[in-house]
Amino acid sequence: MKVLVVLGDGMADEPLAELGGKTPLEYARTPNFDRIAREGACGMVRTIPPGFDAGSDIANLSLLGYDPRKYYTGRGPLEAASMGVPLGERDIAYRCNLVTVTEGVLVDFSAGHIPSSEGGPLIRAVGAGVEGVSLHPGVSYRNLMVVPNGEGAETAPPHDIVGERINAHLPRGGDAPILVRVIERSREVLRDQPVNRERIARGQRPANMVWPWSGGRRPALPPFRDLHGVSGAMISAVDLLNGIALLAGMEVIRVPGATGYLDTDYAAKARYATEALERFDLLYLHVEAPDEAGHMGSVVEKVKAIERVDGMVGTIMETYQGIIAVLPDHPTPIRVKTHTPDPVPFAVRGLLRDGTSRLTEREGARGGYGTLEGVEFLPTILGESG
Ligand SMILES: [Zn+2]
Repeated sequence: MKVLVVLGDGMADEPLAELGGKTPLEYARTPNFDRIAREGACGMVRTIPPGFDAGSDIANLSLLGYDPRKYYTGRGPLEAASMGVPLGERDIAYRCNLVTVTEGVLVDFSAGHIPSSEGGPLIRAVGAGVEGVSLHPGVSYRNLMVVPNGEGAETAPPHDIVGERINAHLPRGGDAPILVRVIERSREVLRDQPVNRERIARGQRPANMVWPWSGGRRPALPPFRDLHGVSGAMISAVDLLNGIALLAGMEVIRVPGATGYLDTDYAAKARYATEALERFDLLYLHVEAPDEAGHMGSVVEKVKAIERVDGMVGTIMETYQGIIAVLPDHPTPIRVKTHTPDPVPFAVRGLLRDGTSRLTEREGARGGYGTLEGVEFLPTILGESG
């Protein structure tokens, strides 16, 4: 029996006054999620172990069966794997955001979701202006910095310090002197770049600083097939998910038109997913858009993103008869515009029936699966194939 896991990044939320006390999942029109719950069952899953930051890195490692307590070293090395940046044993890879800072305050962790075509030259310019580290352009604002023979450092996720003064959150310990030097140098280099002048002229936010965070050494993940006894494939637009998959020995299927943003090509994703399900036992299909809408604090965009994920699931279900699970990796509540570590709801069309009828936070909490730990999720779902 085939297994499809659809991961709608950040879909879970809280009841909102503007939605009449409903959460975005409750408010959205999701006939396909509903059908999965009706023909199957719901539950909750704790994707973030106590003491860990609520991020997609931790949550998706857990859900794929890799206990973060054992395998997590940082977000940087996971993305390096996807970007094809080789890491030596002693190298530390940091995620390096392009950000917008105004008068010492971090106003945008994504520099206005700068497109790769504009961000790439900026990252290369910063890289040319610093010594002792290498910078690598990634997708949009998500770039990479490698410190050879590094030590790591305490860093702040930029999406958690929006609206705050950066001086209070600069890197500390270990590689901090190097990181701070790169941050300061990036200001000077980026100030007069033509790309930034044009962005400002168009009324867009300039990418006027880099922000390195979540560094670590390359982790050693046991192969997915050894762990779960099935072949696995990943479809995602973001390097983080693809990097985890590559390090786990899963097949990474790149879909043209998948942007990791609100405008991603859902039809293309559905088409590639349907094809992948013929070749692999398990497909992990990740969509980033609901999380981005959560970070924007936009209820309208979040509901729209959820409905589009539902539509994509509907397209796949036209031909796909196997087990299907839908869930977020973590909540990205509109109220806080960032991730929270609370358990998330899931719905599975498998063997179990529990009388639930929707994929929502409230239905999940009364679902037949109860509350699972993150690493129990895939074994539970795979067990549904009997
Ligand atoms: Zn996020």
